[in-house]
Amino acid sequence: MQYQSTRDKSISVSSAQAIKQGLSSEGGLFVPESFPTITGAEIKALTEMTYNERAKFILGKFLTDFTDEELTKCVNSAYTKEKFGTSAIAPVYKLDDTVYVLELWHGPTCAFKDVALQILPHLLTTSMKKTNEDKEVVILVATSGDTGKAALAGFQDVDGTRIIVFYPDNGVSEIQKLQMVTQEGNNVSVAAVKGNFDDAQNGVKKIFTDEEYKTLLARNKFSLSSANSINWGRLVPQIVYYFSAYAELIKSSDIENGDEINVVVPTGNFGNILASYYAKKMGLPVRRFICASNENNVLTEFINTGVYNKNRPFHTTISPSMDILISSNLERFLYDLTGCDDAAVRDLMAKLASDGVYEVSADVKAKMQSMFSANYCDDAETMAAIRKTAKEYDYVIDTHTAVAKAVYDKYVAETGDRTKTIIASTASPFKFNQSVLIALEDHNAVVGKDEFTLLDELSQKSGMKIPDSLAALKDKSVVFDLVCDKNEMQQTVSDFLMVE
Ligand SMILES: *Cc1c(COP(=O)(O)O)cnc(C)c1O
Repeated sequence: MQYQSTRDKSISVSSAQAIKQGLSSEGGLFVPESFPTITGAEIKALTEMTYNERAKFILGKFLTDFTDEELTKCVNSAYTKEKFGTSAIAPVYKLDDTVYVLELWHGPTCAFKDVALQILPHLLTTSMKKTNEDKEVVILVATSGDTGKAALAGFQDVDGTRIIVFYPDNGVSEIQKLQMVTQEGNNVSVAAVKGNFDDAQNGVKKIFTDEEYKTLLARNKFSLSSANSINWGRLVPQIVYYFSAYAELIKSSDIENGDEINVVVPTGNFGNILASYYAKKMGLPVRRFICASNENNVLTEFINTGVYNKNRPFHTTISPSMDILISSNLERFLYDLTGCDDAAVRDLMAKLASDGVYEVSADVKAKMQSMFSANYCDDAETMAAIRKTAKEYDYVIDTHTAVAKAVYDKYVAETGDRTKTIIASTASPFKFNQSVLIALEDHNAVVGKDEFTLLDELSQKSGMKIPDSLAALKDKSVVFDLVCDKNEMQQTVSDFLMVE
């Protein structure tokens, strides 16, 4: 299977090349030239498999240039009971006879990004070998919180890689900062940047586009890469858990093979929900995709009107991982909806860059609306959804999952659609303990309490065990106290790699 670029479909590369490159040279994203199909009989066979076997089966359909042995190694290095606390990796929790929660947060950093970022380093190093690349990969990340830690945990001690993460010194939560500065591993580095997330992001972009600096690194046998969500190697592992969840529902006799389900996804960059759409293209019986946003509701408006307009106020919400105005993976969706029209995608993306707004054709809009519904909720509704879910089901969800639940409830109220539904749960409630405790009680529940007291109290209230990785932070020592100016970031990278 070859991969083409969304902005120039005459480009054709292997999956190893697509994963190694991340982004196509003219700025497009890599997509498979066709979608493999999974038959009903194959879905039935999935029910008898472990998560790792399912992952290998689905990945094998796309990464056709990887050998069986390579795929096995990548999958088994990433998905272990030790790292995910459960060999189910992505277990399904039944709320009632219609609603099921797909728990994607059992990984080492307690958010769904682990599912992709635990395997990406292995896919990437295998891709480097397959394309005869002799340099060491250096991953540069600017993070507003979740991605940085998930990338550090994924790349920790992976041979042939180094990783350096920059975070804004006053822009991440206490627990996120603790998670990063206590990171262990002999190939990792973490630095705070004096500034906000944009400063960190711009600094990283500047390093990526500095040809002279990249030549210097190449002479020292280093090659820069990024772990961001547009890499095909991050998207393809996300397709797996939708098939896995469907197989689990067949296994528990909640559905019969072939029954349609709905999928609800709390969305930011459009990666997770796109993976579910790709699963449908391959044969997973999905009736409707419900795209849930917080007050940064650019996708709600897009799906409902066909107009994408990023010119709007940016809201800081209690579901910060969805505070996004440019959903980069939407480009892949547009490519698909336009029938692989690279010129049309180029045109839309040029409009987004110049005007911050574009409108899709009536055809594309109709096609999108035949499959997708979209809505959003504000922070008060998010809080109410946490409270209501705890009360009705004795089950505590995090703020991102709560956005999905609130939007799902609105959808059911509007449509009366009682199709069995999977809600993607993207973070552990412990990761956003402050907001969750306020939702369950009130503001007094958190004032003057440190992170570890809050974890204990949430554990008591929810009856859930504190994730080992968060509990362990208490006894970890700070490894990184590096703070740099925003114009010293390149020097920080050089110091880490010992190049001059
Ligand atoms: C990244 C993230 C999301 C958004 O996922 P996308 O694939 O970017 O749409 C939602 N919830 C949590 C907790 C996340 O970390």
